[in-house]
Amino acid sequence: MGSLRDVIVLVGPSLEPWRCSRFEWRSDSISAIDRDEPALALERGSLVVIPGLYNSHTHMGDSCFPDGATGLTLEQGFFRPEGFKYRRLASISRAEHLPHVVNHLRYMARTGTVGHIDFREQGPPGSELLREASRVTGVESVILGQFSGVPFDDATLAANDAPLPEAARREAEAILAAADGFSESTMNDLTDRAWREIRELTQKSGKLRAIHCLENAGYRDVSLARAGRGDLARAIDLYDPHLIVHMTVANDAEIALLASSGKTAALNPRANANLGLPLPPVRALMESGANLLLGTDNGLLNSPNLFAELDFTYKLAKSQFGDAVRPDPLAILRMATANIQGVLGNDHPGRLERGLPATFVVLDFNQPHLRATEHIPASIVTRVTPEDVLATFRMGKPLFQAEGFSSAVIP
Ligand SMILES: [Zn+2]
Repeated sequence: MGSLRDVIVLVGPSLEPWRCSRFEWRSDSISAIDRDEPALALERGSLVVIPGLYNSHTHMGDSCFPDGATGLTLEQGFFRPEGFKYRRLASISRAEHLPHVVNHLRYMARTGTVGHIDFREQGPPGSELLREASRVTGVESVILGQFSGVPFDDATLAANDAPLPEAARREAEAILAAADGFSESTMNDLTDRAWREIRELTQKSGKLRAIHCLENAGYRDVSLARAGRGDLARAIDLYDPHLIVHMTVANDAEIALLASSGKTAALNPRANANLGLPLPPVRALMESGANLLLGTDNGLLNSPNLFAELDFTYKLAKSQFGDAVRPDPLAILRMATANIQGVLGNDHPGRLERGLPATFVVLDFNQPHLRATEHIPASIVTRVTPEDVLATFRMGKPLFQAEGFSSAVIP
Protein backbone atom coordinates (compact mmCIF):
# COMPACT_ATOMS: atom_id res chain seq x y z
CA MET A 1 0.00 0.00 0.00
CA GLY A 2 0.97 3.62 -0.22
CA SER A 3 -0.36 7.07 0.44
CA LEU A 4 0.30 10.56 -0.93
CA ARG A 5 -0.69 13.62 1.15
CA ASP A 6 -1.86 17.05 0.01
CA VAL A 7 -1.81 16.39 -3.73
CA ILE A 8 -3.95 17.32 -6.74
CA VAL A 9 -5.95 14.35 -8.12
CA LEU A 10 -7.89 14.28 -11.39
CA VAL A 11 -11.01 12.56 -10.06
CA GLY A 12 -13.75 10.55 -11.76
CA PRO A 13 -14.79 10.28 -15.41
CA SER A 14 -14.62 14.05 -16.01
CA LEU A 15 -10.99 14.19 -14.67
CA GLU A 16 -11.82 17.29 -12.62
CA PRO A 17 -8.78 18.40 -10.57
CA TRP A 18 -9.28 18.41 -6.78
CA ARG A 19 -6.94 19.24 -3.96
CA CYS A 20 -6.94 16.09 -1.84
CA SER A 21 -5.58 15.66 1.66
CA ARG A 22 -5.01 11.95 0.94
CA PHE A 23 -4.68 9.63 -2.10
CA GLU A 24 -4.16 6.06 -0.97
CA TRP A 25 -3.96 2.60 -2.51
CA ARG A 26 -3.93 -0.92 -1.03
CA SER A 27 -3.00 -3.96 -3.09
CA ASP A 28 -4.34 -3.32 -6.64
CA SER A 29 -7.07 -0.78 -5.78
CA ILE A 30 -7.54 2.84 -4.73
CA SER A 31 -8.59 2.78 -1.07
CA ALA A 32 -9.09 6.50 -0.40
CA ILE A 33 -9.37 9.84 -2.19
CA ASP A 34 -10.10 12.51 0.45
CA ARG A 35 -11.18 15.62 -1.46
CA ASP A 36 -10.86 19.12 -0.03
CA GLU A 37 -11.81 21.48 -2.87
CA PRO A 38 -11.67 21.84 -6.66
CA ALA A 39 -8.32 23.30 -7.75
CA LEU A 40 -7.51 24.79 -11.15
CA ALA A 41 -4.32 26.70 -10.31
CA LEU A 42 -1.20 26.27 -8.17
CA GLU A 43 0.80 28.87 -6.30
CA ARG A 44 3.78 26.89 -5.06
CA GLY A 45 3.71 23.56 -6.85
CA SER A 46 2.28 20.16 -5.97
CA LEU A 47 2.29 16.56 -7.03
CA VAL A 48 -0.50 15.89 -9.53
CA VAL A 49 -2.04 12.41 -9.85
CA ILE A 50 -3.70 11.51 -13.17
CA PRO A 51 -5.09 8.20 -14.47
CA GLY A 52 -2.55 5.92 -16.17
CA LEU A 53 -2.37 6.63 -19.90
CA TYR A 54 -3.45 4.20 -22.64
CA ASN A 55 -1.89 4.32 -26.10
CA SER A 56 -4.57 2.87 -28.38
CA HIS A 57 -2.61 2.40 -31.61
CA THR A 58 0.97 1.20 -31.61
CA HIS A 59 3.30 -1.04 -33.57
CA MET A 60 6.03 -1.56 -31.01
CA GLY A 61 7.52 -4.40 -33.05
CA ASP A 62 9.16 -1.87 -35.37
CA SER A 63 10.41 0.39 -32.56
CA CYS A 64 13.90 -1.03 -33.22
CA PHE A 65 14.24 1.01 -36.45
CA PRO A 66 13.71 4.60 -35.20
CA ASP A 67 13.17 7.02 -38.09
CA GLY A 68 14.32 4.33 -40.53
CA ALA A 69 11.56 5.13 -43.03
CA THR A 70 12.47 8.81 -43.23
CA GLY A 71 12.18 9.86 -46.87
CA LEU A 72 9.88 6.96 -47.82
CA THR A 73 6.19 7.15 -48.70
CA LEU A 74 3.51 5.33 -46.70
CA GLU A 75 3.47 2.54 -49.30
CA GLN A 76 7.30 2.28 -49.50
CA GLY A 77 7.69 2.31 -45.76
CA PHE A 78 4.79 0.33 -44.37
CA PHE A 79 2.98 -1.88 -46.91
CA ARG A 80 3.53 -5.63 -47.39
CA PRO A 81 5.40 -7.44 -48.76
CA GLU A 82 8.27 -5.15 -49.79
CA GLY A 83 7.83 -2.15 -47.47
CA PHE A 84 10.83 -1.09 -45.36
CA LYS A 85 9.19 -2.18 -42.11
CA TYR A 86 8.42 -5.72 -43.29
CA ARG A 87 11.84 -6.25 -44.90
CA ARG A 88 13.59 -5.14 -41.72
CA LEU A 89 11.32 -7.14 -39.41
CA ALA A 90 12.07 -10.25 -41.49
CA SER A 91 15.81 -9.69 -41.04
CA ILE A 92 16.00 -9.33 -37.26
CA SER A 93 16.40 -12.35 -34.97
CA ARG A 94 14.15 -12.87 -31.95
CA ALA A 95 17.18 -12.55 -29.65
CA GLU A 96 17.96 -9.10 -31.09
CA HIS A 97 14.33 -8.05 -31.36
CA LEU A 98 13.04 -8.73 -27.84
CA PRO A 99 15.38 -6.33 -25.93
CA HIS A 100 14.42 -3.48 -28.29
CA VAL A 101 10.73 -4.00 -27.61
CA VAL A 102 11.33 -4.36 -23.85
CA ASN A 103 13.27 -1.09 -23.80
CA HIS A 104 10.55 0.76 -25.66
CA LEU A 105 7.85 -0.58 -23.34
CA ARG A 106 9.96 0.70 -20.43
CA TYR A 107 10.13 4.09 -22.15
CA MET A 108 6.33 4.04 -22.38
CA ALA A 109 6.09 3.39 -18.62
CA ARG A 110 8.62 6.18 -18.04
CA THR A 111 6.34 8.54 -19.97
CA GLY A 112 3.16 7.65 -18.06
CA THR A 113 1.73 4.89 -20.23
CA VAL A 114 0.31 1.82 -18.45
CA GLY A 115 -1.10 -0.01 -21.46
CA HIS A 116 -1.21 -0.06 -25.24
CA ILE A 117 -3.22 -1.65 -28.02
CA ASP A 118 -0.69 -3.06 -30.46
CA PHE A 119 -1.24 -4.02 -34.09
CA ARG A 120 1.36 -6.78 -34.13
CA GLU A 121 2.91 -8.03 -37.35
CA GLN A 122 4.62 -11.37 -38.00
CA GLY A 123 1.75 -13.76 -37.24
CA PRO A 124 1.67 -15.87 -34.05
CA PRO A 125 5.43 -15.56 -33.28
CA GLY A 126 5.10 -11.76 -33.44
CA SER A 127 2.29 -11.82 -30.87
CA GLU A 128 4.26 -14.18 -28.62
CA LEU A 129 7.31 -11.88 -28.67
CA LEU A 130 5.30 -8.87 -27.54
CA ARG A 131 3.59 -10.97 -24.85
CA GLU A 132 7.04 -11.74 -23.45
CA ALA A 133 8.04 -8.04 -23.47
CA SER A 134 4.81 -7.16 -21.66
CA ARG A 135 5.46 -9.82 -19.02
CA VAL A 136 9.00 -8.51 -18.43
CA THR A 137 7.98 -4.84 -18.10
CA GLY A 138 4.51 -5.00 -16.52
CA VAL A 139 3.14 -2.67 -19.23
CA GLU A 140 -0.16 -4.11 -20.44
CA SER A 141 0.04 -5.07 -24.11
CA VAL A 142 -3.36 -5.69 -25.69
CA ILE A 143 -2.09 -7.63 -28.69
CA LEU A 144 -3.97 -7.70 -31.98
CA GLY A 145 -2.15 -10.07 -34.31
CA GLN A 146 -2.10 -9.80 -38.08
CA PHE A 147 -1.27 -12.28 -40.83
CA SER A 148 2.44 -12.78 -41.58
CA GLY A 149 1.64 -12.08 -45.24
CA VAL A 150 -1.38 -11.03 -47.33
CA PRO A 151 -3.15 -14.38 -47.95
CA PHE A 152 -4.50 -13.39 -51.42
CA ASP A 153 -2.91 -12.29 -54.69
CA ASP A 154 -4.05 -9.05 -56.36
CA ALA A 155 -6.31 -10.78 -58.91
CA THR A 156 -8.16 -12.71 -56.18
CA LEU A 157 -8.58 -9.52 -54.14
CA ALA A 158 -9.91 -7.71 -57.23
CA ALA A 159 -12.49 -10.45 -57.85
CA ASN A 160 -13.45 -10.19 -54.14
CA ASP A 161 -15.16 -13.56 -53.94
CA ALA A 162 -12.71 -16.09 -52.47
CA PRO A 163 -12.97 -17.54 -48.97
CA LEU A 164 -9.97 -17.57 -46.63
CA PRO A 165 -7.43 -20.16 -47.85
CA GLU A 166 -7.05 -23.09 -45.46
CA ALA A 167 -3.49 -22.12 -44.46
CA ALA A 168 -4.62 -18.57 -43.61
CA ARG A 169 -7.52 -19.93 -41.58
CA ARG A 170 -5.11 -22.03 -39.55
CA GLU A 171 -2.81 -19.01 -39.08
CA ALA A 172 -5.77 -16.90 -37.90
CA GLU A 173 -6.65 -19.56 -35.33
CA ALA A 174 -3.03 -19.65 -34.13
CA ILE A 175 -2.97 -15.82 -33.91
CA LEU A 176 -6.13 -15.83 -31.80
CA ALA A 177 -4.62 -18.47 -29.51
CA ALA A 178 -1.56 -16.24 -28.92
CA ALA A 179 -3.11 -12.75 -29.06
CA ASP A 180 -6.01 -10.77 -27.59
CA GLY A 181 -7.54 -10.17 -30.98
CA PHE A 182 -7.07 -9.66 -34.69
CA SER A 183 -6.02 -6.67 -36.79
CA GLU A 184 -5.05 -6.01 -40.37
CA SER A 185 -3.36 -3.20 -42.26
CA THR A 186 -6.39 -2.35 -44.43
CA MET A 187 -9.78 -3.76 -45.42
CA ASN A 188 -8.28 -4.17 -48.90
CA ASP A 189 -5.97 -6.99 -47.73
CA LEU A 190 -8.82 -9.55 -47.55
CA THR A 191 -11.99 -10.41 -49.49
CA ASP A 192 -15.47 -9.74 -48.15
CA ARG A 193 -15.97 -13.46 -47.49
CA ALA A 194 -12.68 -13.67 -45.61
CA TRP A 195 -13.68 -10.72 -43.39
CA ARG A 196 -16.92 -12.49 -42.46
CA GLU A 197 -14.91 -15.61 -41.58
CA ILE A 198 -12.50 -13.60 -39.40
CA ARG A 199 -15.45 -11.99 -37.66
CA GLU A 200 -16.93 -15.43 -36.87
CA LEU A 201 -13.58 -16.80 -35.64
CA THR A 202 -13.01 -13.84 -33.32
CA GLN A 203 -16.60 -13.93 -32.04
CA LYS A 204 -16.29 -17.62 -31.27
CA SER A 205 -13.12 -17.05 -29.26
CA GLY A 206 -14.36 -13.83 -27.62
CA LYS A 207 -11.44 -11.77 -29.00
CA LEU A 208 -11.11 -8.16 -30.14
CA ARG A 209 -11.26 -6.91 -33.74
CA ALA A 210 -9.49 -3.79 -35.04
CA ILE A 211 -8.64 -2.29 -38.40
CA HIS A 212 -6.92 0.70 -40.04
CA CYS A 213 -9.43 2.78 -42.07
CA LEU A 214 -9.19 5.92 -44.19
CA GLU A 215 -5.54 6.62 -43.49
CA ASN A 216 -5.41 8.06 -46.99
CA ALA A 217 -7.86 8.28 -49.90
CA GLY A 218 -6.39 5.12 -51.44
CA TYR A 219 -7.94 3.02 -48.68
CA ARG A 220 -11.41 4.21 -49.73
CA ASP A 221 -10.77 4.23 -53.50
CA VAL A 222 -9.41 0.66 -53.74
CA SER A 223 -12.28 -0.58 -51.58
CA LEU A 224 -14.82 1.20 -53.80
CA ALA A 225 -13.30 -0.35 -56.93
CA ARG A 226 -13.23 -3.88 -55.52
CA ALA A 227 -16.30 -4.04 -53.33
CA GLY A 228 -18.51 -1.15 -54.39
CA ARG A 229 -18.22 0.70 -51.09
CA GLY A 230 -15.60 2.47 -49.00
CA ASP A 231 -13.39 0.73 -46.46
CA LEU A 232 -15.15 2.17 -43.38
CA ALA A 233 -18.61 1.02 -44.49
CA ARG A 234 -17.20 -2.41 -45.34
CA ALA A 235 -15.41 -2.68 -41.99
CA ILE A 236 -18.51 -1.85 -39.96
CA ASP A 237 -20.81 -4.15 -41.94
CA LEU A 238 -18.59 -7.20 -42.51
CA TYR A 239 -16.13 -7.17 -39.63
CA ASP A 240 -17.90 -5.30 -36.77
CA PRO A 241 -14.63 -3.97 -35.29
CA HIS A 242 -14.25 -2.86 -31.67
CA LEU A 243 -11.64 -0.31 -32.72
CA ILE A 244 -11.03 1.67 -35.93
CA VAL A 245 -7.76 3.59 -36.27
CA HIS A 246 -6.87 6.67 -38.35
CA MET A 247 -10.06 8.22 -39.90
CA THR A 248 -7.55 10.72 -41.33
CA VAL A 249 -9.45 11.55 -44.53
CA ALA A 250 -12.95 10.75 -43.23
CA ASN A 251 -15.66 12.86 -44.87
CA ASP A 252 -18.87 14.03 -43.20
CA ALA A 253 -20.84 10.93 -44.23
CA GLU A 254 -18.10 8.64 -42.91
CA ILE A 255 -17.93 10.53 -39.60
CA ALA A 256 -21.72 10.24 -39.28
CA LEU A 257 -21.49 6.51 -40.04
CA LEU A 258 -18.83 6.03 -37.35
CA ALA A 259 -20.90 7.91 -34.77
CA SER A 260 -24.15 6.08 -35.55
CA SER A 261 -22.37 2.71 -35.42
CA GLY A 262 -21.25 3.39 -31.82
CA LYS A 263 -17.72 2.30 -32.73
CA THR A 264 -14.59 3.73 -31.12
CA ALA A 265 -11.91 5.42 -33.24
CA ALA A 266 -8.26 6.00 -32.33
CA LEU A 267 -6.60 9.07 -33.85
CA ASN A 268 -2.85 9.53 -34.34
CA PRO A 269 -2.32 12.96 -35.81
CA ARG A 270 1.47 13.04 -35.27
CA ALA A 271 1.89 9.89 -37.37
CA ASN A 272 -0.38 11.28 -40.09
CA ALA A 273 1.59 14.52 -40.20
CA ASN A 274 4.91 12.68 -40.22
CA LEU A 275 3.81 10.79 -43.35
CA GLY A 276 2.74 13.96 -45.13
CA LEU A 277 -0.93 12.97 -44.90
CA PRO A 278 -3.80 15.35 -44.14
CA LEU A 279 -4.48 16.03 -40.47
CA PRO A 280 -7.51 14.13 -39.11
CA PRO A 281 -10.81 16.01 -38.65
CA VAL A 282 -10.55 16.08 -34.85
CA ARG A 283 -13.18 18.80 -34.44
CA ALA A 284 -15.80 17.04 -36.58
CA LEU A 285 -15.10 13.72 -34.88
CA MET A 286 -15.44 15.30 -31.43
CA GLU A 287 -18.68 17.03 -32.42
CA SER A 288 -20.07 13.75 -33.81
CA GLY A 289 -20.09 12.27 -30.30
CA ALA A 290 -18.02 9.21 -31.33
CA ASN A 291 -15.85 7.67 -28.61
CA LEU A 292 -12.28 8.76 -29.41
CA LEU A 293 -8.86 7.49 -28.33
CA LEU A 294 -5.27 8.48 -29.12
CA GLY A 295 -2.32 6.48 -30.40
CA THR A 296 1.23 7.08 -31.53
CA ASP A 297 1.26 4.44 -34.35
CA ASN A 298 4.52 2.91 -35.56
CA GLY A 299 7.48 2.93 -33.18
CA LEU A 300 9.76 3.59 -36.11
CA LEU A 301 7.72 6.67 -37.04
CA ASN A 302 7.09 8.30 -33.64
CA SER A 303 8.26 8.03 -30.07
CA PRO A 304 5.49 6.36 -28.03
CA ASN A 305 5.28 9.41 -25.75
CA LEU A 306 1.60 10.26 -25.24
CA PHE A 307 2.33 13.69 -23.79
CA ALA A 308 3.62 14.70 -27.23
CA GLU A 309 0.45 13.31 -28.84
CA LEU A 310 -1.80 15.12 -26.34
CA ASP A 311 -0.07 18.44 -27.03
CA PHE A 312 -0.25 18.05 -30.81
CA THR A 313 -3.89 16.86 -30.80
CA TYR A 314 -5.06 19.62 -28.46
CA LYS A 315 -3.53 22.36 -30.60
CA LEU A 316 -4.76 20.76 -33.82
CA ALA A 317 -8.28 20.59 -32.39
CA LYS A 318 -8.13 24.22 -31.26
CA SER A 319 -7.03 25.27 -34.73
CA GLN A 320 -9.95 23.37 -36.27
CA PHE A 321 -12.47 24.79 -33.77
CA GLY A 322 -11.05 28.15 -34.75
CA ASP A 323 -11.73 30.17 -31.65
CA ALA A 324 -8.97 29.31 -29.11
CA VAL A 325 -11.77 28.50 -26.63
CA ARG A 326 -12.65 24.93 -27.60
CA PRO A 327 -12.03 22.14 -26.83
CA ASP A 328 -11.59 21.70 -23.09
CA PRO A 329 -8.10 20.22 -22.62
CA LEU A 330 -9.67 17.52 -20.42
CA ALA A 331 -11.66 16.30 -23.45
CA ILE A 332 -8.29 15.57 -25.10
CA LEU A 333 -6.86 13.95 -21.95
CA ARG A 334 -9.93 11.67 -21.78
CA MET A 335 -8.86 10.25 -25.18
CA ALA A 336 -5.83 8.73 -23.41
CA THR A 337 -7.64 7.80 -20.17
CA ALA A 338 -11.38 7.46 -19.43
CA ASN A 339 -12.45 6.75 -23.03
CA ILE A 340 -10.49 3.47 -23.04
CA GLN A 341 -13.38 1.75 -21.22
CA GLY A 342 -15.35 1.87 -24.48
CA VAL A 343 -12.96 -0.68 -26.01
CA LEU A 344 -11.38 -2.59 -23.14
CA GLY A 345 -14.42 -2.75 -20.83
CA ASN A 346 -15.23 -2.12 -17.19
CA ASP A 347 -11.99 -3.53 -15.79
CA HIS A 348 -10.21 -0.67 -17.63
CA PRO A 349 -12.12 2.36 -16.29
CA GLY A 350 -9.31 4.81 -17.13
CA ARG A 351 -10.31 7.01 -14.20
CA LEU A 352 -9.55 7.42 -10.49
CA GLU A 353 -12.19 6.64 -7.86
CA ARG A 354 -12.19 4.75 -4.58
CA GLY A 355 -12.41 0.99 -5.25
CA LEU A 356 -11.16 1.24 -8.86
CA PRO A 357 -7.75 -0.06 -10.02
CA ALA A 358 -4.70 1.76 -8.60
CA THR A 359 -3.53 2.61 -12.12
CA PHE A 360 -2.15 6.14 -12.04
CA VAL A 361 0.70 8.50 -12.88
CA VAL A 362 2.29 11.03 -10.52
CA LEU A 363 3.48 14.27 -12.18
CA ASP A 364 6.00 16.64 -10.60
CA PHE A 365 4.31 20.03 -10.70
CA ASN A 366 7.02 21.35 -8.36
CA GLN A 367 9.18 21.88 -11.44
CA PRO A 368 9.81 25.55 -12.33
CA HIS A 369 7.85 25.38 -15.60
CA LEU A 370 4.79 23.87 -13.87
CA ARG A 371 4.68 25.08 -10.25
CA ALA A 372 2.77 28.32 -10.87
CA THR A 373 0.33 26.99 -13.47
CA GLU A 374 -2.97 28.83 -13.68
CA HIS A 375 -4.67 25.96 -15.49
CA ILE A 376 -3.64 22.47 -14.37
CA PRO A 377 -5.41 20.52 -17.19
CA ALA A 378 -3.96 22.74 -19.93
CA SER A 379 -0.47 22.37 -18.44
CA ILE A 380 -0.82 18.57 -18.27
CA VAL A 381 -1.74 18.46 -21.94
CA THR A 382 0.78 21.00 -23.23
CA ARG A 383 3.74 21.39 -20.85
CA VAL A 384 4.48 18.09 -19.09
CA THR A 385 7.60 16.40 -20.43
CA PRO A 386 8.80 12.84 -19.77
CA GLU A 387 11.19 14.21 -17.10
CA ASP A 388 8.17 15.44 -15.11
CA VAL A 389 6.78 11.91 -14.64
CA LEU A 390 7.69 10.83 -11.11
CA ALA A 391 5.97 7.44 -11.08
CA THR A 392 3.71 5.18 -13.13
CA PHE A 393 1.60 2.54 -11.35
CA ARG A 394 -0.57 -0.21 -12.84
CA MET A 395 -2.86 -2.20 -10.52
CA GLY A 396 -0.90 -0.96 -7.50
CA LYS A 397 2.49 -2.02 -8.86
CA PRO A 398 5.13 0.51 -9.93
CA LEU A 399 6.15 0.25 -13.60
CA PHE A 400 8.45 3.24 -13.18
CA GLN A 401 9.60 5.35 -10.21
CA ALA A 402 11.98 8.31 -10.45
CA GLU A 403 14.74 8.61 -7.93
CA GLY A 404 13.37 10.27 -4.83
CA PHE A 405 9.71 9.46 -5.48
CA SER A 406 9.59 6.96 -2.63
CA SER A 407 10.25 9.77 -0.14
CA ALA A 408 6.87 11.32 -1.07
CA VAL A 409 5.02 8.06 -0.35
CA ILE A 410 3.83 7.29 3.15
CA PRO A 411 3.91 3.50 3.43
ZN1 LIG B 1 -1.20 0.93 -37.42
